[in-house]
Amino acid sequence: MTKEKKYTKKEKIGYLDFNHARTPEQIEVMRRIVEDGVCPFCHFDTYHSKPIIKETAWWYLSENMSPYEGTKIHLIFVYKKHVTLTSEIEPEATKDLFELISWAEKKYRMVGGSFFVRFGKSEITGGSVDHFHAQLIVGNAKGTDKKYDKLKVKLGYKKLSA
Ligand SMILES: [Zn+2]
Repeated sequence: MTKEKKYTKKEKIGYLDFNHARTPEQIEVMRRIVEDGVCPFCHFDTYHSKPIIKETAWWYLSENMSPYEGTKIHLIFVYKKHVTLTSEIEPEATKDLFELISWAEKKYRMVGGSFFVRFGKSEITGGSVDHFHAQLIVGNAKGTDKKYDKLKVKLGYKKLSA
């Protein structure tokens, strides 16, 4: 019997970067995707456990499977075609994306939030899936006591001084 590989080591395999996985659930799904040898976002409804909230001609809108710690809302907007760079997005799709963000803003009655995209090489961005997707997070309004901390989002790396 062959020993099953657990991917506990930091690895970049296919479309996935295990260096940037944050939860055991994520690692388990990522392990399955590697076995299947596909891009998970090209087969979005197969590997994504959260329901698709809205679908347009260009995008899927869903919740992040592993929301960042402390977020009240964490949405992802997944481009339907397999691309990794912003320059590969069709012009009509950019308009469609902002209309979808506005739709979500109204649906969830957002009065504030943050929207970001990691694109290209995951060793630069800290991303875990090499397929263009945007993210929207909403935390809490900061209170006046010390019970609040900043949401932490990794958007790349800085070199530490020696
Ligand atoms: Zn893909």
